[in-house]
Amino acid sequence: MRYLLILFIIFAIVNSVIAEDVDFFSQRKMMVEQQIQKRGVSDKKVLDAMLKVERHVFVPSDVRNLSYIDSPLPIGKGQTISQPYIVALMTELADLKVDDRVLEIGTGSGYQAAILAELSEEVYTIEIIPELAKRAEKLLKELAYDNIKVREGDGYLGWPEYAPFDVIMVTAAPPAIPEKLIEQLAEGGRMVTPVGEAGNQVLRLLIKKQGDVVEENIIPVRFVPMVHE
Ligand code: SAH
Repeated sequence: MRYLLILFIIFAIVNSVIAEDVDFFSQRKMMVEQQIQKRGVSDKKVLDAMLKVERHVFVPSDVRNLSYIDSPLPIGKGQTISQPYIVALMTELADLKVDDRVLEIGTGSGYQAAILAELSEEVYTIEIIPELAKRAEKLLKELAYDNIKVREGDGYLGWPEYAPFDVIMVTAAPPAIPEKLIEQLAEGGRMVTPVGEAGNQVLRLLIKKQGDVVEENIIPVRFVPMVHE
């Protein structure tokens, strides 16, 4: 009798875990279709990565049930994980190739880094808040993303040891585009970054062509500010 009871409890636990995963999967599928594809992101590789990476794993437990809503969410320390559509749009704009070397500024939860790591072999990410850097590093390691290097530091300086980068993605808004980051962009490289003061930011795509930088404004956005150390 007791064995039966234990068996039943194990069954119930396993079942609820599976049910939650299935539910999150269907929510994620809806997120990709309704929030991302419908707004015009069409790169199959980007859509597949957004479907694969479990956003709820990167979201703190108190807001986990909101993981797949059309919104940024708090991740602690006054910071946020970006809205799914913005993550997808920025990833599509970056036009990642498998052998690209990618730098992200603003690791936050580590979610965007995981998306980047699904598409490119080498991802470097810098976070200025030590607790967030440590938490993301631990989580990404648990998830076996051994192609991501996390560093605690000031993203304004870039990561000169590994420059140049084919892609630089900035996920906090600087008032103006940091010179050091432009320097660390490879020839043919793409930089995707919000820029501007709070309330007046725009998402910008920069492409380095024959040493010159071609810039394009994409859409108005709202990001947390990129702070100086
Ligand atoms: N990409 C993140 C969301 C980032 S929110 C994700 O997927 O969850 C922006 C992050 O940029 C915050 O964690 C903030 O602490 C960090 N940040 C702000 N200024 C920075 C700087 N100068 N260097 C590195 N990180 C910075």
